[in-house]
Amino acid sequence: MKVFEHTPLAKLSTIRLGGVGQYLIECNSMEEVISAVQFTKGKQLSVIPLGGGSNIVFPDGVLKSVLIKINITSFDLDEDCSEVTSGAGMNWDLFVQKCVQAGLAGVECLSGIPGTVGAVPIQNVGAYGQEVAQTIIRVECLHKETLKTKAFTASECLFAYRDSIFKCNDNPWIILNVKFRLKTELPEIRYGELKNSLNHKLLDHLSLQDKLAIVREQVIVLRRGKGMVLSNEDPNTVSAGSFFKNPTLDKKEYSQFLATCEQLNLGKVPSYPNGEQTKIAAAWLIEQSGFTKGQIYKGIKISDYHALALVNIRGNTAELAEFVELIRSQVYNQFGLLIEPEPVWYNTDGQRINF
Ligand SMILES: Cc1cc2nc3c(=O)[nH]c(=O)nc-3n(C[C@H](O)[C@H](O)[C@H](O)COP(=O)(O)OP(=O)(O)OC[C@H]3O[C@@H](n4cnc5c(N)ncnc54)[C@H](O)[C@@H]3O)c2cc1C
Repeated sequence: MKVFEHTPLAKLSTIRLGGVGQYLIECNSMEEVISAVQFTKGKQLSVIPLGGGSNIVFPDGVLKSVLIKINITSFDLDEDCSEVTSGAGMNWDLFVQKCVQAGLAGVECLSGIPGTVGAVPIQNVGAYGQEVAQTIIRVECLHKETLKTKAFTASECLFAYRDSIFKCNDNPWIILNVKFRLKTELPEIRYGELKNSLNHKLLDHLSLQDKLAIVREQVIVLRRGKGMVLSNEDPNTVSAGSFFKNPTLDKKEYSQFLATCEQLNLGKVPSYPNGEQTKIAAAWLIEQSGFTKGQIYKGIKISDYHALALVNIRGNTAELAEFVELIRSQVYNQFGLLIEPEPVWYNTDGQRINF
């Protein structure tokens, strides 16, 4: 294992914010992760597992924590039953690519999402009609205090929209590997924009591999057009992806919300069924509350492509926090809805900040 002190945090997160991390430890095996946790004992420092830093906001100043970067990158494919177990440190998009090449379906719509395999269960990563909850069958973890391992079944993970048992304030679990059960036929493409853009491309005579490769390529094209694929050439990708979750409303809340929209004469409301609830597009709420794409607040900007991503142009975390509060309060004043940030946000003591 490698131990680094006083590491600049900006280079560890895709939104490139934060001061300095007291310790960063890189681990290539479960044994090294255990040694890294033991290293923290007696130091009064919190332990934060770190993947690709694409859903994390670090504080300005000194982060009094040990960041454990898990570099376990195994990929074990059991072809007989279409099950794959992958190490937590495996790059997520590389994982998707390998599944597609192996002719295994179920994650192709999640192409181009940054980060690691170990982080996908945390917020039940999803896009273009797929969520990892549909394919994950086991998540193997290490407990930060007891150093015991536990394998969570999918139902024990309590997956929900951008949520799971692991996305909580005092999550004690470090994810070591994730097991997926994939499919051997192409699932129905549900997401309208993707479905329309694939029109006539998924010809019957093509192999499953070829069809999956076409879907993957198309997803990446669509994502790139929205600044949702990391790229050094595109300053709009210096972000944490979508910054706010889409609020989900029950029946009563939804009818109150529709009444507010009618009073404001806002026309058609972009909303989608989410089980018993209705999901409202947070980007639309933000734009209807007076914000525009490309709008700048100090060193932070709303993405030029869509209103849900906040981009760091030359800012710091304090400025991001101010802008986030401004957006939330204006949306609340307009609609009576509190939109919740999606990334995990830490203070200098390494505790999660709640909104
Ligand atoms: C351009 C862009 C596009 C994005 N698009 C999407 C999208 O379409 N859909 C979507 O759902 N998300 C999206 N995201 C968000 C992000 O990519 C995902 O949430 C991703 O899974 C985060 O992975 P990571 O390895 O970077 O996690 P990190 O940012 O490193 O960590 C996020 C949280 O998970 C914890 N964590 C990380 N690894 C582990 C582990 N092994 N064990 C325990 N805890 C761990 C961290 O402590 C932290 O609390 C996007 C982000 C960006 C920048």
